[in-house]
Amino acid sequence: MGDPLETLRKILALEEKDYGFQDKAVAGGLARYVATWRKQAAQFYGESAGPWIEDVAVRLEAYSSLQPDARQQALQILKEVVQSPPSVATGEPSSMPAPAPVPAPQEQEPSPKAGEGLRASVTLLSGVGQRRAELLGKLGVNTIGDFLYFYPRRYEDYSQLRTIDHLVYGETASVIGTVWEAGGRQTRGGMYLFRAILSDNTGTLEVTWFNQRYLEDRIKPGMQLVVSGKIEEYLGRLTMNSPEWELVGRSDLETARIVPIYPLTEGLTQRWLRQTLRQALSAWAYRLVDPLPETLRKAYDLLPLGRALWGIHFPDSFDHLRAAQRRLAFEEALYLQLGLLQQKLQWRSQPGRAIQAPEGYLESLLEALPYALTGAQRRSLDEMLQDMATGNPMNRLLQGDVGSGKTVVAALLMAVTAVTGGQSALMAPTEILSEQHYKSLSRLFAAFPASEGNSNLAGALRVLTGSTPTAEREEIYAGLADGSVKVVVGTHALIQESVVFKELALVVIDEQHRFGVEQRAALRQKGYNPHLLVMTATPIPRSLELTVWGNLDASVLDEMPPGRQEIDTCVLYPNERERAYTFLRHQVAEGHQGYVIYPLVEASEKIDARSAVEEHERLQKEVFPDLKLGLLHGRLRSEEKEAIMSGFVRGEYDVLVATSVVEVGIDVPNATVMLIESADRFGLSQLHQFRGRVGRGEYKSYCLLSAENASEEATERLKAVEATNDGFVLAQKDLEMRGPGEFLGTRQSGFLELPMISLADIRLLHAVREAAERVLQHDPDLALPEHREMARHLGDFWGMTGDPS
Ligand code: ADP
Ligand code: MG
Repeated sequence: MGDPLETLRKILALEEKDYGFQDKAVAGGLARYVATWRKQAAQFYGESAGPWIEDVAVRLEAYSSLQPDARQQALQILKEVVQSPPSVATGEPSSMPAPAPVPAPQEQEPSPKAGEGLRASVTLLSGVGQRRAELLGKLGVNTIGDFLYFYPRRYEDYSQLRTIDHLVYGETASVIGTVWEAGGRQTRGGMYLFRAILSDNTGTLEVTWFNQRYLEDRIKPGMQLVVSGKIEEYLGRLTMNSPEWELVGRSDLETARIVPIYPLTEGLTQRWLRQTLRQALSAWAYRLVDPLPETLRKAYDLLPLGRALWGIHFPDSFDHLRAAQRRLAFEEALYLQLGLLQQKLQWRSQPGRAIQAPEGYLESLLEALPYALTGAQRRSLDEMLQDMATGNPMNRLLQGDVGSGKTVVAALLMAVTAVTGGQSALMAPTEILSEQHYKSLSRLFAAFPASEGNSNLAGALRVLTGSTPTAEREEIYAGLADGSVKVVVGTHALIQESVVFKELALVVIDEQHRFGVEQRAALRQKGYNPHLLVMTATPIPRSLELTVWGNLDASVLDEMPPGRQEIDTCVLYPNERERAYTFLRHQVAEGHQGYVIYPLVEASEKIDARSAVEEHERLQKEVFPDLKLGLLHGRLRSEEKEAIMSGFVRGEYDVLVATSVVEVGIDVPNATVMLIESADRFGLSQLHQFRGRVGRGEYKSYCLLSAENASEEATERLKAVEATNDGFVLAQKDLEMRGPGEFLGTRQSGFLELPMISLADIRLLHAVREAAERVLQHDPDLALPEHREMARHLGDFWGMTGDPS
């Protein structure tokens, strides 16, 4: 037998020259030639040429269904594909992964058309009319580009199929069989039961679904189905309950071992999606200009784009699939990193105020502190002072677990800023927290020695919140405008329009994940490129530090001030509440104080959780009639809150009954017990924050977690908090359990809802970060020709997801 390519080349030439792409070179169309091609090519080239043969076959098949004007290009690609057949088989098994079926086209000088074509409507594809286009639109697919990047939700591995006689009770498996019987009925329990008997050559399997009446129209005798699910046993027979199922087409089995399963919408089927995607891929995948230049792909071992897109839809093997996923994730993460790094570079290139303390000033401040800074505090402080001395704005994140001593670091920066004539603003999320900061700063500033620039720093400190009385507010506005107020602490009252600074040089934001991007920017805009310090007590998992906070430099307080006691944490059984009360009473008897935290202010009928108001009353009357109990919750007016808080600080209350308002910042070193009721209703990070309210002094402290009907997931959270005091470990766990959207709150997570990036893959994220740094190092504006396509995609990416600064 001769080389089947000879014939094929002749057909292609005929189609091009004589028939002008009318699909007439073969009677009935080129698609008719596919079967012959497959058979002859397999014989001539052997098994190992499978992927290439298949690639040609798919292109031939697609050719007939293309619109006439798309055929010309499709044929050119076909000609290129058939230029490079694999060498004729020698009988040796092929080595996996299979070679890329098409070698060269994507390396060519990009044709601008290909990029534009991606933005063309899906209706350009044959078989996609107005109606189907609308259905695809429901899946978020509008353009050909969307379609190529419409990723499967999972894959069915037809190479791992079992025959029915090999099924094992208790295992999960996939089976292909023909439907013998199928039908539904109402059960006596009022359920609707649909039952089908599947058969292959080796036996029969009963499959049932509950309450899925539509199956009556879908599953009929004679059909071929693949079902995947857990094998169970019923009356001695093997069955599957509510398995995932698909109709199987012969072509699925012939052409792919790993079959993609797409998200569907009413009116579209897997089969149609697969066929249409194959067609779209064969027409477009290898014509796309790869945004990643070859040098980068080589350096990080990444598949070319065309091969990756084929691999994500129709992988040759699991290796191919993994390589495709990695390549596409890398690209997504690269746009993210490029954008973040560009922002960072851009911000740093702005002119700013160079702040440098006079000789000996910092040392005099440090001497005035009642303690020595920890190594981590000193290191972070030096990093920041270095940033601020450069004449370009600082843009830095300071993260440190609760109690790691962030406030004093900020206070030192503020004092240095003030001595050089600049003003500082510290924004905190709540009034209580603002007040606390104000007090801590007052104390520190009062201890700082007076100097030429700072004759009375404590006197130049103010607090501004929503409840600051009008007269005082006016006075603060005036002081900020004339520069006599050097440091202001407050809530978002600071970003009101009427707040004008004379010389705002340092912006500090505490607990930043509670502020929106816009609020951060609004405060920053009140100065001329002020230095920015963002402080967070929620330790940030490394992956998020590389993504969400990737446009900031980072300093970490990974060391606690000395003398801290480990907090003992214990999950209580519901019947252990009395013991908790006894324990609390003992601590009070020893002169300490405690907190009891509830998730709600007042009892609601819907939620079965304890509430602060009712429980305060009950505890005071029935449990601790001889003790003084304070009540703190968010519905109190701020003077009331303030009165309760300062009473607790002064020791007037033994126990503070509270809601989550105590979560942040409250600092009472004498408090040694934290009892959290209905603890299952709080998140992991929140529990850790609560716990941070005790163990702030030299006394051994305890955290008791009580939950009545904790779900499995809640129990896992509680166990995690019990197991470690390490905020970084808990933050990572929290991220894993909830995902980035919940972890961050939706406002900031929009651009992390990317289909391919896994925040668990720290290694990949690091590699991408490094790659982005390299790229920007020698081409900061992405102006080189090999970066043209990358720059275009970068623009699309940030246009779509928004700016995280
Ligand atoms: P954070 O804001 O990081 O939760 P704070 O700044 O409120 O922590 O500090 C917690 C407590 O530790 C404060 O009472 C503070 O005075 C104290 N502190 C801070 N740094 C040190 C240090 N180096 N040595 C001893 N105590 C310190
Ligand atoms: Mg703090």
